[in-house]
Amino acid sequence: MADKKLHAIPLGGLGEFGMNIMALRYGDDLIVIDSGMMFPETELLGVDIVIPDISFLLENREHVRALLLTHCHEDHIGGVPFLLAELNVPVYGTPFTLAVLRNRLAEHELLDTAQLNEVHSHEIVELGPFKIEFIHVTHSTIASVMLAITTPLGVVVHTGDFKIDPTPTDNELFDLHTVAEYGKRGVLALFSDSTNVERPGFTPSERAVRPRFEQVFAEATGRIYVSCFTSSVHRLQLVIDLAAEYNRKVAFIGRSMVNISEISHRMGYLHVPDGLLLRPQDIAEARKDRVAVLIAGSQGEPMSALSRAAVDNHKHAHIGAGDHVVLSARIIPGNEKGIFRMIDHLFRRGAHVVYGADGGRPIHVSGHASQEEQRLMLNLVKPRFFIPIHGEYRQLFRHVELASHLRGIPLRPGASPEAAGGLEDTFILESGDILEFDEQGARLAGRVTVGRRCIDSGSIDEFVEDMTIRDRRHISEDGIVLPILAINKHTGNVETPPEIVTRGFAAGEADGFTDRVREIVLQTLAGSSDEEKSDYGVIKEKIRADLKRYINKQTQRRPLIMPVILEV
Ligand SMILES: [Zn+2]
Ligand SMILES: [Zn+2]
Repeated sequence: MADKKLHAIPLGGLGEFGMNIMALRYGDDLIVIDSGMMFPETELLGVDIVIPDISFLLENREHVRALLLTHCHEDHIGGVPFLLAELNVPVYGTPFTLAVLRNRLAEHELLDTAQLNEVHSHEIVELGPFKIEFIHVTHSTIASVMLAITTPLGVVVHTGDFKIDPTPTDNELFDLHTVAEYGKRGVLALFSDSTNVERPGFTPSERAVRPRFEQVFAEATGRIYVSCFTSSVHRLQLVIDLAAEYNRKVAFIGRSMVNISEISHRMGYLHVPDGLLLRPQDIAEARKDRVAVLIAGSQGEPMSALSRAAVDNHKHAHIGAGDHVVLSARIIPGNEKGIFRMIDHLFRRGAHVVYGADGGRPIHVSGHASQEEQRLMLNLVKPRFFIPIHGEYRQLFRHVELASHLRGIPLRPGASPEAAGGLEDTFILESGDILEFDEQGARLAGRVTVGRRCIDSGSIDEFVEDMTIRDRRHISEDGIVLPILAINKHTGNVETPPEIVTRGFAAGEADGFTDRVREIVLQTLAGSSDEEKSDYGVIKEKIRADLKRYINKQTQRRPLIMPVILEV
């Protein structure tokens, strides 16, 4: 009966941080787990987001039965609109995950055509040869699940993102019983989250952040601003609870913060006492010691609400001496520079900035399992084959090491025939590798096409294949515009009129074009505060956005715009 082979094919998220997506194929039938995005490294100028190349799925389009989502984080659902635009398959996820997704789909005008299917923890969905059970896990966002996928060759367990929080703030316990049941019956392969494999011990419970937050609320005499990942609904709830206790009203600032808090409130995940809400436009008038603000932008993104408030360029959020700013999020690798620059600005404004750990009282805890939790998962599932996912190569490598104690453990008496006597093999896969399973075992069996697609402004028309192709196409068709500014490091003044260099941009040769571009750059500078000007990330982004708008309008062209700042 099981003469067909089972293939597990990660299409992204292995050996890199973000854009998680994996295909599972039995015979011809395919299902896809998650479809994430990642934010570009700073080298990818002009690119807003990066998503995985899905040509493998498109080549097999008639066999793709569904997309299964584990939870609502960007690195798991951020690529869904782009996938559905090309391959409109049914989507399965928890009601909250799908609610967050709906917002995204609406922005892409895909809401009417998308086929969204709500599933709850414990529910089983049958798709061709696959029988999928959704199992509740604890993580930094709510309504997260892992998947147990029964195939004719055995059960495949995919953890998605998890930590094992024994005291979750919402009392929705990790469904470890169900995981253990699968382990007892025998599991062919475990794919497990490797993010925190370098951390010994256990990740602290979400409850561990409360003491430090309490201290901030007890001490603060000015406004309290809190920035965390907007999907950290537990954390939003904590701030709301403390605000109610300490007699402060709460305002929400930033588009994603407003969106997610509305969704979670509507669905009953976020409880806001009557009369507690404060409109952003009323912050300025309210007594400072009666205000708490949940504000988006914990990663120092140049155009986010908090980054703008840090340089006093936000309409409603003004941060000054005596205010507290709490950064309750981890620093995603690659964002350090922007975040620390933002923190510098906040300190300069006289704010008390609370970030990082302080003598064992964390202001943020991770949503990912540390070593002991990863071991517990391995022991409960007791797979024949183990494949670490969600991590860079060193993390996958360390996770394989962590599993080694499972090799050669004896079969439990009375175990079912599928149950293995311990770990047979482990695989460190890279995106694109085909891992093949059959009656004989598991092995690497070739590769499929994978890669990155860079997106400009989040629109599908502006979809561009590969970075190199993108640059070449961009430069060959639309040319390149380089505004070069010499800024005095000490005064922050622009020393000489900006130099405008254009290449391969026909309009660039037109009369008066470079003069006009120079004027726009000067206008952007004139409209920016000294603080903004001292933040090159912010100022470059502002110049790029203003020029992009002008050039698109004037010429219908999209040249590559790369502001260059020389410190003199
Ligand atoms: Zn996550
Ligand atoms: Zn993740």
